[in-house]
Amino acid sequence: MTGAKHPNSSLSMSPQPHQGQPIIREVACKSVLNRSAISDYSLNCYVGCEHACAYCYARYMQRFHPHEEAWGDFVDVKVNAVEVLEKQLRRAAPGDVFISSACDGWQPLERRWQLTRACCRLLLEHGFRVNALTKNALILRDLDLFVGRDAQISVTVTSLDEGLRRLWEPAGSTVEQRFDVLRQAHEAGIETGIMFGPLLPFLSDSLDSILALFARAADAHVNVIWVDALNPRPNVWEAVQALLQAQFPDLVERYRRVLFSPVVRAAYVKGLNERVRAAAARLHLSDRLAGCA
Ligand code: SF4
Repeated sequence: MTGAKHPNSSLSMSPQPHQGQPIIREVACKSVLNRSAISDYSLNCYVGCEHACAYCYARYMQRFHPHEEAWGDFVDVKVNAVEVLEKQLRRAAPGDVFISSACDGWQPLERRWQLTRACCRLLLEHGFRVNALTKNALILRDLDLFVGRDAQISVTVTSLDEGLRRLWEPAGSTVEQRFDVLRQAHEAGIETGIMFGPLLPFLSDSLDSILALFARAADAHVNVIWVDALNPRPNVWEAVQALLQAQFPDLVERYRRVLFSPVVRAAYVKGLNERVRAAAARLHLSDRLAGCA
């Protein structure tokens, strides 16, 4: 089953927000495992993300790690991440680790550096639970680490429309590659999850689109489903607005109201949650729906 296609989704894929190969810098870190609001810990081996998603909330990291380059055009590689984690694990109490909260741990350069892989191995050996969330099929390289361990592999999907995926998440894996991650992880006996978020207002958030997404989640036998709305996080609007101006100019003002008008936003989120719950109920997935927008 495929999602409803937006009439503009077959438009030319340029201009892209992502401007070619990112600048890679090697840096030393003091800490790689950090306490987190969304889990016991989060772990990030990189600052920056090649995936360059237009809506990326991790852009706020620019506040703490200013870079001249735009988000998606730089990545700092924490080359001592494994050594630092080894030290931190001497003191840290075991718990759930979310990988990753401010980058994608399996972005393309992880193929060369293998830092996320090495850190996952260490965490699992020390009795930590690993909750991985990615938009890259590179995580399939690491299935051997997760088999039989306390771990969950999840992917993010914001639309089934590959044209929209290329626009909003230009360097992530294709939609079908992400579902293949879920299929292979499930077949390997690993717990799986899917994050439908942020659903794109007026592009992938209709009831039909959500039903199509949930049907794919059911086919993939995921254990847990989350849904998120687009949020007005710092530095996000500029990139979203640029994409909309180029590809969906009629949506600029509608997005602005959804993000910044409290009344419109409250009504939007309420309606989205109603559609999400209706879709989950219709497909008998309510028990797997862990979080709404
Ligand atoms: S994959 Fe995640 S961290 Fe990377 S750019 Fe996209 S939203 Fe941001």
